[in-house]
Amino acid sequence: MELYTPEVMIAEDEIVTRIEALGKAITKDFENEDLVVICVLKGAFVFCSDLIKRINLPLKLEFISLSSYGDSTNSSGNVRLEMDITANIEGKNVLIVEDIVDSGLTIKTLLEMLAIRRPKAVRLASLLFKPMNLKHKVHIDYLGFEIEDKFVIGYGLDYAGRYRELPYIGILNAGN
Ligand code: 5GP
Repeated sequence: MELYTPEVMIAEDEIVTRIEALGKAITKDFENEDLVVICVLKGAFVFCSDLIKRINLPLKLEFISLSSYGDSTNSSGNVRLEMDITANIEGKNVLIVEDIVDSGLTIKTLLEMLAIRRPKAVRLASLLFKPMNLKHKVHIDYLGFEIEDKFVIGYGLDYAGRYRELPYIGILNAGN
């Protein structure tokens, strides 16, 4: 496998600063409450692991896996539940942690799945948001960065399973 260095869209230190602010906002909003954090695998795992370190609340961490993209950069148009959470979220405050909202289909589907389980409240944190492609109205309570319509990789986000380990958000194939 050859080493490929993509163009940086969002640098590591910008991400750190933004996550600190998001963590503070979440801590303030859920003061004196418990929280179930649901990390949407695989893309959100890096963001989620950095974010929970900045949330000063008693929390439990759950993982869910959904797929809407295969190995291409285009949405397949349907969302499949690959792995469910194990906790009962009835009556609980839930924070979904997602890597990116693009068309909004993944999050819309997840919100519908979780609503049936009657949580007390559900909030959404997403590292990235691409407003250009939005097809389903989604409210992001805690947004890292709004970005232009480029396919991004790194900081947990992949292309065909690769580049998740990059410590920054890069643009796939920019100028290459
Ligand atoms: P949506 O359902 O909102 O269209 O897509 C959300 C999912 O698509 C994300 O969780 C992510 O897995 C994938 N996705 C959308 N845009 C990008 C992108 O620019 N880069 C990567 N790596 N994944 C993306």
